[in-house]
Amino acid sequence: MKRPHLKFSGLGSLVLLLPLMTYTLYQWFERDKDEAFIQQIYNRQLDTILFSVNQYSWNKFEFWTSAISDIHHAPDETRKRIVNLLKQNRSLIGICMLDSNGSRIFEVGRFSRIFAKNEEATEKVREKILLYQHQLKRMKRRAIEGYMRPLSLNLDDLDPSIDLILIPVASAGDSAENWIIAGLYLDKFQFIQDIVVRKFTEINDGNLIFAIQSQTGKILYNSDSETEHAFEKTDTMWILPDLQIMVKLKGTTLQSLSKQRIQKNLLFLLIINLLLGIGIVILMQNVSKAVKLARMKSDFVANVSHELRTPLALIRMYAETLEMGRIRSKEKQKRYYQTIMNECSRLSKLVNNILDFSKIESHSKKYVFQMIQPDLWLRETLSVTQFHLDQKGFALDVRIDAQVPRIKADREAITQAFTNLLDNAVKFSGDSRNIQVCLEKVNTEIHISVRDWGVGIEPADQKHIFQKFYRVGSSLIHDVKGTGLGLSLVKHIMQVHHGRIEVKSELGQGSTFSLFFPIGGI
Ligand code: ADP
Repeated sequence: MKRPHLKFSGLGSLVLLLPLMTYTLYQWFERDKDEAFIQQIYNRQLDTILFSVNQYSWNKFEFWTSAISDIHHAPDETRKRIVNLLKQNRSLIGICMLDSNGSRIFEVGRFSRIFAKNEEATEKVREKILLYQHQLKRMKRRAIEGYMRPLSLNLDDLDPSIDLILIPVASAGDSAENWIIAGLYLDKFQFIQDIVVRKFTEINDGNLIFAIQSQTGKILYNSDSETEHAFEKTDTMWILPDLQIMVKLKGTTLQSLSKQRIQKNLLFLLIINLLLGIGIVILMQNVSKAVKLARMKSDFVANVSHELRTPLALIRMYAETLEMGRIRSKEKQKRYYQTIMNECSRLSKLVNNILDFSKIESHSKKYVFQMIQPDLWLRETLSVTQFHLDQKGFALDVRIDAQVPRIKADREAITQAFTNLLDNAVKFSGDSRNIQVCLEKVNTEIHISVRDWGVGIEPADQKHIFQKFYRVGSSLIHDVKGTGLGLSLVKHIMQVHHGRIEVKSELGQGSTFSLFFPIGGI
């Protein structure tokens, strides 16, 4: 059978899924490029972090030097400022001022650590400064051009923790050559702690590891000293060029981070694809179900019309015949009346089924429960249908256990359920004329079964016969009349009674429908 609706929904789904799948594939093939791009972004971020640490240290240094640059014009005030600077900054040990020949103008500071008040040390510093005459000259030349660049001398032979940083601060007198050079004695470790590390800690959001390394490769500071790291970004400190500042990402590398990012994105896309795919499958299933239901409904309308037309035609025909008074024989007349009655009862059953079904669908069906003795109820129900069965030539084998306990049920509803089963057994008996009805107690349940030796039901159909409107095969070619509502009603009635319905059937061998009620009821 062709299913155009499925073809259309398939096409629609493809239109939905295709752009997303194309995008996913594009992302997959471009993943190397994306990784490189993400790495580049992170690289820049690390660079920026090193830059801002360097910039901050430099600013600090610049602030110190600007505070002392006015020495020539306001010597007393500047000296006071220098004393204050020394008091406030632990890393600044001392400050000296040199004239353009490198001779000391004055010196202030906590020098006891370096010089130990001994002349020899002072002399050594002086000798060192003299050694750098050439660089000092160049520094002065650049200062004239307006470019202040410090010269950092380490005083390893006196104290390895101290650097002397020389910088031209002001021209002395009229000659451009006469520059005053400031010398700042810096305690490197204190500077690292108070300025560099503090700045880094301020920037770090917990995802970075930072370290400072000396020229000899010795690590002077490491924010995560427990593990050894290969740092991804390194820069020389502008203010102390023999130190390297280094940074890396915590717990990962740039490469693996960018890889993770891309993998996460791809996984996310795949999940969306999958969800969309599942959604489409569910949608198609629902569309197919809805279409099937619509088809069954239209079959139902055809069936009901057919079901109504036949008994009405029969009733009319027999009534007319009787009215004309042509039938003389009393026997025949009685048969005609009985047929009219039978057809009326068939019609009322049909109408009842339809009305009940519509009540169930609109949730307005009400049940009245009462305690019922099943054997009495069953005998009573059978006595009403007996005549109908006899007429059709059926032999009814009834096996009722009179000892079964009572159940709580809606009498009308269970009668309707049972007669639906019995009617089906009659309808689908084929050539067989035997029906068996049993009532017994099985464990904690009351079991009522209706068995026939008729056409039987294929296993594949057995799953569907309890659905509304479902009829085995096409109803229009069916020579047995029906609406496809009977069993769905029975199933509903059993659910309301907290019981169940089961079927055992074999094609060509017959079927047994069983109703199970809980003893004592709901
Ligand atoms: P209807 O009998 O009006 O078609 P039902 O809901 O009562 O609707 O039954 C659904 C279908 O189940 C029937 O069309 C028939 O194909 C199948 N069926 C029900 N009872 C029997 C039975 N005793 N033997 C064989 N087939 C049956």
